[in-house]
Amino acid sequence: MSFLAWPLETNRIRRDVTNNTFGTVRRNADGTKRDHQGWDLVATPLTACYAIAEGVIRKSENHSPKGHGKLVILEFVFQGRTLFALYSHLSLVSVVRGTKVSQGEVIAYTGNSGNASGMAGEDQHLHFEVRTELDAGRGLAGRVDPKTLYGRAPREYTIVESHGQKRLLNPSGTGLKINAGDMRRW
Ligand SMILES: [Zn+2]
Repeated sequence: MSFLAWPLETNRIRRDVTNNTFGTVRRNADGTKRDHQGWDLVATPLTACYAIAEGVIRKSENHSPKGHGKLVILEFVFQGRTLFALYSHLSLVSVVRGTKVSQGEVIAYTGNSGNASGMAGEDQHLHFEVRTELDAGRGLAGRVDPKTLYGRAPREYTIVESHGQKRLLNPSGTGLKINAGDMRRW
């Protein structure tokens, strides 16, 4: 697989803030930092999630009301490495363990399951992470920054990728870049 598709049609870090990106970016009550294991991409519930690459579904589980809630993990190969893409806080999942999927196929719909259950408005999101191990450990262990795969995090602009017309519009898989200033707010 030479490029990764984006997990959503419109991809933007929730509230455009660092603590919704990957790394030791969040703070505890005492001011010490803690990890966020992936990207939070803003999405109203029932937004379609796409397979970022062709591969096989390795997990399709419901951990609600805790943690990731409803989740899917897709195993895929990118640049010679076997990796695992986790999509969580889902509402509906259209694949089971063992399902083979093509790149750009709809595999699930976003939601507020697990510990995202209290979220509303602009905080509703897809939690998306990329792992080097199916059962990654605590903190950042067994995970990679999605930015290292996509080349950038979608902050201060939205990556729009029309999955239905991907091959027509987007042979490089890099998406269209729309600056925040170009977006009209009603
Ligand atoms: Zn998250």
